[in-house]
Amino acid sequence: MVKPNTLLHNISLKPYNTFGIDVSALHFMEIDNNTLLKEVLFSEQYPEPLLLGGGSNVLLTKDVSSLVIHLNTKGIEILSKTQNHAQVKVLAGEVWHDLVCWAIEHDMGGIENLSLIPGNVGTAPIQNIGAYGVELKDVFISCQGLDLQEKKEVTFTKEDCAFGYRDSIFKTNKGRYIITSITVELTTQNHNKNITYGAIESQLKQEGINTPSLKQISDAVISIRKSKLPDPKILGNSGSFFKNPVISKEKFNALQKEYPEIPHYALGEDQQKIPAGWLIEQCGYKGKRFAEVGVHKNQALVLVNYGDAKGEQIWELAQNIQKSVQDKFNVYIEPEVNIY
Ligand SMILES: Cc1cc2nc3c(=O)[nH]c(=O)nc-3n(C[C@H](O)[C@H](O)[C@H](O)COP(=O)(O)OP(=O)(O)OC[C@H]3O[C@@H](n4cnc5c(N)ncnc54)[C@H](O)[C@@H]3O)c2cc1C
Repeated sequence: MVKPNTLLHNISLKPYNTFGIDVSALHFMEIDNNTLLKEVLFSEQYPEPLLLGGGSNVLLTKDVSSLVIHLNTKGIEILSKTQNHAQVKVLAGEVWHDLVCWAIEHDMGGIENLSLIPGNVGTAPIQNIGAYGVELKDVFISCQGLDLQEKKEVTFTKEDCAFGYRDSIFKTNKGRYIITSITVELTTQNHNKNITYGAIESQLKQEGINTPSLKQISDAVISIRKSKLPDPKILGNSGSFFKNPVISKEKFNALQKEYPEIPHYALGEDQQKIPAGWLIEQCGYKGKRFAEVGVHKNQALVLVNYGDAKGEQIWELAQNIQKSVQDKFNVYIEPEVNIY
């Protein structure tokens, strides 16, 4: 445990990223209050700071010479409650899964399918976290933050955020905005449960559950995730390394002629989403290990650190995979993970 709100130097970032990459931060501060956060971020002293929440969506390829801030602001507040809904404001440093558990304890629905997604609440809007048919945008009302360019406090509505698949205004303006809190609207009764997506339905059926509670849905999601994804505490990883590419219908039709078994999801009439994991698997990478780095044996989208890998080695593997997929399918797969 480091001393909060204190400027430290030459700190290893290994405990602060789920890949477990051992690079160091020349300057480091864990901040647990928004007053200090604003003061530090608006001062001229530390340009281009690197914010870290849970460190579950970053690949650190070198030592960081700018200030690294580990955000640890905590607080969950019910702003308003009607018969069917509650608006809840949550500070950015809360752990996402803790919020999910809090919501379930308070019989509030809407985020149970997002159980066990690593990382912090303040980072959730950046890539509009999603799993099992639900995305953050489905419950999102607004978020508050700091504009580092204009040096002022800002509020973003859902429309302002321009949420898309693993995308938002915060991704397209990387580093400009720091999110300090988010407000979500959860159901307090007549929960709109989404259990038909992915393996949830069969998991519940297997357990003999027909009308699941929020907790039972969450438990089903947790059990599916644990069986599919490696635990970063045991095997360093950052979840899905690449986004699923979205391609035009024409390009898809041509690919389907050559690969009739290619999995796909229609996005409207003109576009198709292809699972990047399938493309990577077809290139022969699934389960392959290259010294300290590799591709997970159960999920080709997940790159792993077997121990002492360097960030550059993981990045090199990622680039080799990108090239193989490009050469074989003429499809570009974009990293979902933020590379530094
Ligand atoms: C095993 C595993 C499974 C995963 N499964 C999923 C999944 O199912 N769905 C999904 O969507 N994602 C998934 N992820 C990815 C990850 O959990 C999410 O992207 C999460 O939102 C990252 O949060 P974090 O706090 O760890 O972000 P970090 O890695 O700390 O930061 C990510 C980026 O956001 C910036 N940042 C951090 N905090 C702030 C802030 N307050 N304001 C502005 N910028 C900030 C950082 O500088 C960095 O660029 C998974 C990851 C792992 C390791």
